[in-house]
Amino acid sequence: MQQTDVIIIGAGAAGLMCAAQAAARGRKVLLLDHANKAGKKILMSGGGRCNFTNYHISFDRYLSHNPHFYKSALKRYTQWDFIALVEKHGIAYHEKKEGQLFCDTKASAILNMLLDECTAFNVDLRLKTSVSQIKAITNSGTHSDSNADSNSNLRYQLKANGELWQCESLVIATGGPSIPTLGATGFGYEVAKQFNLAVYEPSAGLVPFVITDHQKTLCEELSGTSLPIEVSCRGKSFSEDMLFTHRGLSGPAMLQISSYWQAGDYLSINLMPHMDVGQVLRQEQHQRPKLLLRNWLAEQSTQKFAEHWLAPTQWHNHSLAQLNGAVMDEIAQGLQQWQIKPAGTEGYRTAEVALGGVDTDALSSKTMEAKEQPGLYFIGEVVDVTGHLGGFNFQWAWSSAVAAAENV
Ligand SMILES: Cc1cc2nc3c(=O)[nH]c(=O)nc-3n(C[C@H](O)[C@H](O)[C@H](O)COP(=O)(O)OP(=O)(O)OC[C@H]3O[C@@H](n4cnc5c(N)ncnc54)[C@H](O)[C@@H]3O)c2cc1C
Repeated sequence: MQQTDVIIIGAGAAGLMCAAQAAARGRKVLLLDHANKAGKKILMSGGGRCNFTNYHISFDRYLSHNPHFYKSALKRYTQWDFIALVEKHGIAYHEKKEGQLFCDTKASAILNMLLDECTAFNVDLRLKTSVSQIKAITNSGTHSDSNADSNSNLRYQLKANGELWQCESLVIATGGPSIPTLGATGFGYEVAKQFNLAVYEPSAGLVPFVITDHQKTLCEELSGTSLPIEVSCRGKSFSEDMLFTHRGLSGPAMLQISSYWQAGDYLSINLMPHMDVGQVLRQEQHQRPKLLLRNWLAEQSTQKFAEHWLAPTQWHNHSLAQLNGAVMDEIAQGLQQWQIKPAGTEGYRTAEVALGGVDTDALSSKTMEAKEQPGLYFIGEVVDVTGHLGGFNFQWAWSSAVAAAENV
């Protein structure tokens, strides 16, 4: 039987950060991961450059069944704290857009920074290590799988690659099930359930849509075309780029709205968000009556879009002079309130995050410790907190990790 102060399961963004910070406090930390490499999602993130935080972290950029839970941790360890760490390690970075911060070189700079911090404070990192048989134990030696008597001597016992370990604090940082090929599992949810913590059913977030109805042809024809649009669903709107794909719709706007969309919902898409199409068409009809509608539309977006959008309509070869008011209104409505009903999303195969997770009501917002299970912590994506695209998810991983690290 081996003993240590803290065992963290999951050497991803949150687990590495928590391990380094807890070890810096003098805690003896064992960090376990079943993958052959730590931080695989960090390496994949931000197109290989890791969008590690955002200048404009604000609470309205997060989703959770409890919209107050994440405030405390995000306020205590902020984007400025993480930026200071990045600068301390001499990592060059830049703002891409809207406060999104990316490495100048590679995402591995962030992973190496976290690994260096772990090494500096003697974190015992073990990869290719599977964990089984987690138990809460009391010093009298009695075991319990679920809520044990609340007492300060509570410890945890687990088996890792066949070795028995005991610890004072057990931190679950195993993330969510998105991108299983990167080692993602629902392990954290199973641990939560084992200790009677409620779990909100996870679902794929920040994920492309699949279109299978009559609009599929248009998506296929326009595959590779990206347009600035505004998309709305369930009272939420995002103004970003949309990308047509062979399978449906993707791009930042679609990933953002996917976290709000539910099966059966229509998306309302404004393909010309910077103008009032009806009004502009009337003006143009006056000024350039001979201009073909499809040439006007090509000027506003792309030739390819104009061709494929108008091809199935009767106005394909019409000049602006040939359009009456009702037709112009119909064209405007089609472009500015395009209704499309996705058949679904691409699911965990390509999702950047999992929505849902461990019910925050069961956790302390200050420490991430389970209220009814002293010494057991949940941090990062496994918790029912999900950020928008733009560095918000990593900031949650860092902030929740530090909240736990200060207490384990
Ligand atoms: C392609 C992609 C790009 C992304 N880009 C960005 C971005 O640019 N900015 C941003 O903010 N967010 C981004 N995200 C989201 C971000 O990666 C996650 O929110 C973040 O990694 C969550 O951190 P975590 O530590 O909770 O989980 P993870 O980083 O997923 O780490 C979990 C770890 O637990 C391990 N594990 C899982 N199950 C077990 C088990 N049973 N036993 C032992 N170990 C286990 C895994 O191997 C993994 O190492 C991206 C996600 C993806 C998939």
